[in-house]
Amino acid sequence: MTTTDWAPTACILCECNCGVEIRLDGRTFARIRGDKAHAASKGYICEKALRLDHYQNGHHRLTSPLRRRADGTYEEVDWDTAIGEVAAGLAAVRDEHGGDKIFYYGGGGQGNHLGGAYAPALRAALGSRYRSSALAQEKTGEFWVSAAVAGTVTRGDFEHAEVSVFVGKNPWQSHGIPHARRTLKEIANDPKRSMIVLDPRRTETADLADYFLQVRPGTDAFALAAMAAIMVEEDLVDRRFLADHVGTSDQALGLLRAVPIAAYAERSGITEDLLRAAARRIGTAGSVSVYEDLGVQMAPHSTLNSYLSRLLWVLTGNFAKPGSMNVPSQLVSIGKAKAASTRVSPVVGERIISGMVPANVIADEVLTDHPARYRAMIIESANPAHSLADSTRFREAMRTLDFSVVIDVAMSETAREASYVLPASSQYEKWEATFFNFEFPQNVFSLRAPILDRLPGTLDEPEIHYRLCRELGAIDGERVSELRALAATDRLAFAQAFLMYTSSDPMLGRMAPVLLYASLGPTLPDGAAATAVLWGIAHRAAMMNPDAIRRAGHQGQGLELGEALFESILSDRRGTVFAVNEYEDSWSAISAIDGKMRLDVPEMLELLKALPEAPSTYTNDNYPFVLAAGERRSFTANTIFRDPGWRKRDREGALRISEDDAANLGIATGDRVRVSTKRGEIETVAEVTGTLRAGHITLPNGLGLDYPDEDGIVSATGAATNELTWPELRDEFAGTPWHKHVPAQVKAVGQRVRPS
Ligand code: SF4
Repeated sequence: MTTTDWAPTACILCECNCGVEIRLDGRTFARIRGDKAHAASKGYICEKALRLDHYQNGHHRLTSPLRRRADGTYEEVDWDTAIGEVAAGLAAVRDEHGGDKIFYYGGGGQGNHLGGAYAPALRAALGSRYRSSALAQEKTGEFWVSAAVAGTVTRGDFEHAEVSVFVGKNPWQSHGIPHARRTLKEIANDPKRSMIVLDPRRTETADLADYFLQVRPGTDAFALAAMAAIMVEEDLVDRRFLADHVGTSDQALGLLRAVPIAAYAERSGITEDLLRAAARRIGTAGSVSVYEDLGVQMAPHSTLNSYLSRLLWVLTGNFAKPGSMNVPSQLVSIGKAKAASTRVSPVVGERIISGMVPANVIADEVLTDHPARYRAMIIESANPAHSLADSTRFREAMRTLDFSVVIDVAMSETAREASYVLPASSQYEKWEATFFNFEFPQNVFSLRAPILDRLPGTLDEPEIHYRLCRELGAIDGERVSELRALAATDRLAFAQAFLMYTSSDPMLGRMAPVLLYASLGPTLPDGAAATAVLWGIAHRAAMMNPDAIRRAGHQGQGLELGEALFESILSDRRGTVFAVNEYEDSWSAISAIDGKMRLDVPEMLELLKALPEAPSTYTNDNYPFVLAAGERRSFTANTIFRDPGWRKRDREGALRISEDDAANLGIATGDRVRVSTKRGEIETVAEVTGTLRAGHITLPNGLGLDYPDEDGIVSATGAATNELTWPELRDEFAGTPWHKHVPAQVKAVGQRVRPS
């Protein structure tokens, strides 16, 4: 029966998590609209949110824990059995080989980070040391550079920037900035503002740009280095800013003076005149914001690209003022790295950044007889067998493990390889939130209450982590009962007792999330036990940024301020403004060197020095095309939607190919084509486009997912691009994969009937 109530929640399809309201018909999402009262999105949504019922309801949902049989099939088991056997399986690996052989992957996608906040407690109970997530596929190079240059993450203020620069970023489709399409149109319609887009494809964003730098695939570093060099050569550099706020820059400036600008322009496929015009526009603007994204981060020179992108705004002094780059207050630090860290993965020895092992080496860390190899995996809200390079090899790695458990809403490609699968409640059946809170000056955190009862047979992740920790004997039930009694009667007394208890032993500190869940959790209203971890997070934020939190309207001193923030988060269903920063605050967040930034980052300068010798192309006669494996389109949403019925168009995920290449190969839109690489091949349908350079082809991400029909027969629609990629294609520094730069071959395999 349709209700007339609109339930406030959020879209979970990208990091923006726009507020939406949903009207239910039973368990069906009958209507969806943007939530005008949401503190951040204020009613804005894109068309993808309207399809959310395909995530919530479908044939993909799991309703019982599953145990793998010897023949590879699965049998249902009850939760007590599953928790007991999973805890025993993990404990056996810990006891025989050491907890550091238990690898953790995931912890959340675009909208579900609350469960992952409890995972550190389970890992502590097991002694697990190594982990990774999708961020290690994309952002670790940027995180490292952020730490090295500024000591912190920075974000652009595109709603107010005079010049907005998008480097390998198409916000029209991948969003990432507030009200992306509205903001892009406002920039395009304002003659005083400019947009610069560096991208090998003429994207929807590039169509709105004043300066479109259609770079040759894989040569972004040459284009960016040339632009920075032009700024130095033409004295577009803000020397006062460098003198006052950048500790060291002489070596970087020296190297930029030596950049052969004309030659780099030639290699990048962009005219020198256009590069100079774009550099001048940046260098003479009152404010500039820069957003670099996967187009350059999943491509050759990934980490160097991140460094060079920073030069565009550091050299021109675009920091700590409206319209420029600033440092947001975060509730949970995402993107924090230690540039000086020497931690490496135990088998391959690859650099660990922000605590994450590079995703491309995980299989290599398993498929070896090295004594330090991972023997077990816990995979939560993630699908690495589909999303990491070389799916075949990752599946092989999972089969080699002594033990594995997957926590997910669906029987994903990864779950199909696991020893046990634990079915999670959906993001609309439990308390949820995202920690992607990067806005400035006002930052919003949205805690979402469930709008549906849990699907029978499922549990939310905090409960799963708690039960596993309890089964492992890692929780002192008596002490937790005492704390719970205190939480029910006197929150401040509880706070003092809890902090004293968890600081008495580092192990208890690491167990804090599940200890909060078990003590404070049951005392929270509306069954909100899963939000207990936010209590600790709110208190930490209040200690770290008290002024910004008070400016947002939360009052109190010491523990009272943390309590006030937590209560606000808990009671507000449409987002809480948790911090309001002043532009000046960005300065105090800089911690690279004595409160100053630095451009003389030795590791990046070495890469810049080596750039002249780097190839301009990685293709060859056998594989003459550059495949971007994972383009964001209107009907892509990572792997959140498994039901292919959510796509109104591009159901199979067409291969986009340029008009010139299509003519040479005799391919027309609608023809079937085979794409092959040295690793594998797929077949799909072709779409001939004028948006690509010759030699560049693209496939969308998120296709090729298993989905059962009404009779339970499983099939996949479209091609999974990671059947084509391989782990060695990765950044030399951060190990991020070159998913946007895969040498490939295309052949026509069948023509649709052409009109006579
Ligand atoms: S996909 Fe992103 S931009 Fe679109 S409605 Fe969802 S959260 Fe908002």
